[in-house]
Formats: sequence, structure tokens, C-alpha cells
Amino acid sequence: MMFFLRKLGYDKDIIEEIKKIAQKLDIKTGWFNAIGALKDLEYGFYDQEKKQYKKFLFKNPCEIVSCTGNISLVNNEIFVHAHIAFSDEQGILRGGHLFKGRIFACEVVILPSIDILKREFDEKTGLKLWK
Ligand code: ZN
Repeated sequence: MMFFLRKLGYDKDIIEEIKKIAQKLDIKTGWFNAIGALKDLEYGFYDQEKKQYKKFLFKNPCEIVSCTGNISLVNNEIFVHAHIAFSDEQGILRGGHLFKGRIFACEVVILPSIDILKREFDEKTGLKLWK
């Protein structure tokens, strides 16, 4: 099994950094896991009735307890889907779908897949899912 280990850039966005690595390594589909710390982040909860995200901003430093997700294609462009569990300075855990996260320090492992998966709009959920 092949995988890549990378350090992500200070002050950069975690999603953009993973996307850049995938583009550079030509990974069109894969899985990743990251740990580290963020300066702030934007995360969300998908309201299944309204079919839209409720967004939250966390404007304090936090630990990335676990950030996991995948890489696939949307309109032939690399798309990063990530979820995060993070803890605040009291050790209280929060989490959800990750939109943005400003990096303090972050280490990622990326596992490329031999399959190439594409996302398409799904009527039932309102999400772009793997077809
Ligand atoms: Zn999600």
C-alpha cells in the first residue's frame, strides 16, 4: 500500500493545502487523515430537512483530534471533502463538516486510490455524492 506523508503550511487553509498536494501528486481519488492544531476554523452541520449547511465559526486555537476525509472529482476538478473533530483549551470536543481551517501545525497522510470517483448532484440528499 502506497501513501504520502506531508507537513501542511503555517497559516494556510487546510482544505486548500490538501487540494494542492493532490494536484501536485496527481491524486484524483483518495483518502486522508490529519492531526495538528488550527488557529481558527469554519465547520458545519448539514440540515437534512432544509438540505443546507448550518455554519459555525470557531475563532480560537484548537487541537485537531481527528480530521479525516477524501479526495474525488467534481466537474473533473479535485474536490476535498473533510470532517473534523477538534478540542478547545478546556479539552471540549466539537466537530462536523470542515469548510476552512487556518493551520498552526498539521501533518497529513494521503492514501491514493486506484479507482477514480466523481461526484454528482443527488436529488434525495441535496449533496454531491459519489456516483
Ligand atoms: Zn461532509
